[in-house]
Amino acid sequence: MQTTFSIIKPDAVKLGNAGKILAILEGAGFRIKALRMLKLSQSQAEGFYAVHRERPFFGSLVKFMTEGSVIVMALEREDAVLKLREVMGATNPANAADGTIRKLFAESIERNSIHGSDAPETAAEELKYFFTTQELNQI
Ligand code: ATP
Ligand code: MG
Repeated sequence: MQTTFSIIKPDAVKLGNAGKILAILEGAGFRIKALRMLKLSQSQAEGFYAVHRERPFFGSLVKFMTEGSVIVMALEREDAVLKLREVMGATNPANAADGTIRKLFAESIERNSIHGSDAPETAAEELKYFFTTQELNQI
């Protein structure tokens, strides 16, 4: 079993797609280990996406990620990191496969409804960024 980290982004929460996304994730065999709704601060969003700070879209990305509530989650299943990326679909919804979350719900390459860790190492860091060890080991 592996645990990965995911965020239902502000576009999806605002449009009322959060429940549908959670249902897709559970249907794909993920178990919700921890979950919280919050509004990211500027510094939380900047820190979370720090790897992209030199990219031209960084300012816009941080503005988007702080515009409304998000839902942060710890998701468990076999091969969780890879499987979540599959279920999410490509970053740009125009390139996302049919049936993926981004194909179904994303508005644009920026407003793309969901984040998923890209490797086990980043999953571990991102889980720690939002959850305490106690929260991650409750169930
Ligand atoms: P995430 O890290 O959110 O799971 P990803 O790994 O598919 O997405 P990244 O390259 O890590 O894609 O980009 C992080 C986020 O930055 C994207 O999900 C999207 O919201 C935004 N983004 C990426 N590329 C662009 C772009 N060219 N223009 C605008 N926003 C972008
Ligand atoms: Mg990424």
